[in-house]
Amino acid sequence: MFEKSIKAYEEACQVIPGGVDSPVRAFKSVGGTPPFIAKGEGAYLIDIDGNKYLDFVQSWGPLIFGHCDEEIEESVIETVKNGLSFGAPTLLETELAIEIVEMYENIDKVRFVSSGTEATMSAIRLARGVTGRNDIVKFEGCYHGHSDSLLVQAGSGMATFGSPSSPGVPADLTKHTLLCEYNNIENLRKCFEDSSDIACIIIEPIAGNMGLVPASEEFLKECRELCDKHGALLIFDEVMSGFRASLKGASGIVDVEADIITFGKVIGAGMPVGAFAASKDIMAHLSPDGAVYQAGTLSGNPVAMAAGLTSLRKLKSIPNLHTELNRKAVKLVEGLKEVATKNGIGLQVDTRGSMFGFFFADKVPTNFKEVTDFCDFKRFGKFHHEMIKKGFYFACSQYEAGFISTVISDSMIDECIAAADEVMQNL
Ligand code: PMP
Repeated sequence: MFEKSIKAYEEACQVIPGGVDSPVRAFKSVGGTPPFIAKGEGAYLIDIDGNKYLDFVQSWGPLIFGHCDEEIEESVIETVKNGLSFGAPTLLETELAIEIVEMYENIDKVRFVSSGTEATMSAIRLARGVTGRNDIVKFEGCYHGHSDSLLVQAGSGMATFGSPSSPGVPADLTKHTLLCEYNNIENLRKCFEDSSDIACIIIEPIAGNMGLVPASEEFLKECRELCDKHGALLIFDEVMSGFRASLKGASGIVDVEADIITFGKVIGAGMPVGAFAASKDIMAHLSPDGAVYQAGTLSGNPVAMAAGLTSLRKLKSIPNLHTELNRKAVKLVEGLKEVATKNGIGLQVDTRGSMFGFFFADKVPTNFKEVTDFCDFKRFGKFHHEMIKKGFYFACSQYEAGFISTVISDSMIDECIAAADEVMQNL
């Protein structure tokens, strides 16, 4: 069933480290060979062997309207006809920035970059520049991309490979990264007592890189209060949750406002885009207005802007879109839980908008340590493997979240639950 992919993987490994351009794609934590994808079709992925999968990964989040959405594709094709990149301002950038800032009372300006990594790295530089301080607070299991100072106990692929940090990152560059436990208020308070040099807290308010583990509203409020009390800035990394968990991401779910928000994924609809946004006072520090330097040759690329613009306008124009996506996410995970229970297996599930997560565990994990301590990764690997064989493509690591797109129907979810029932009988 995977002959061509197996061969393609062997060939890729000859010329690309591990055969992939982003580690988690290699299926190391679940085993087996990653299917090589030939194309997407609505809710489905089709691999080079001709296997078809219902896609719950959605390119790790961006494809909220599924593959090959006609309107998004059309806007990309029309834009491409005018050229791929100019390295000069275009109207599209302002239009997309307006779509973002008009969602938030506390956000006035957006700077576009080309990835989530750039967005968080730049947001941190800005926070340091604004406050004149050095330390940053980061939480175990939160992943904010692969810039040096953030590769400290990150989730996602870093967690999969069990690296607390990466070789190649000098300790000097991470000594200002203060690590705290997610959802642990005491720990965070202590951190602020110990350092008077904290520039910012960076947090995934809905963590999707240790599986789906949302921060409690109480915890996020504490983050806000501590930042206010100590003159630090609060950064919500909404690269994954932005426009996904709700139209306003986590910021639309909890009653806490961040000072800087980072975006990615959905605002590019599958094209390489990231962004960071803040009030005009904070953004006044950013080059060319201010002294904090940040730049990018392809930043605000017109083709990417066009895709994002169409995607965001579409998102905003469909009434109750996130309620409907969440209904389907709940239907999926509750269905999985029901068949798990029927088969004597403990499964913990959760959703936020179109994001969903499940852990093979008897209680709900609330931080990274609990995810690693008591969630059954072996069972997840087996489940993943068997579901792929049945045509259901879940994220290939227990440390990742799943996504519902608008083109996933109720009957597709029913089929998935029926398949999971069969798989769980032998799990
Ligand atoms: N922040 C979060 C919350 C993410 O989920 C990711 C990527 N999964 C990143 C930052 C980094 O984004 P990118 O892979 O585009 O660099």
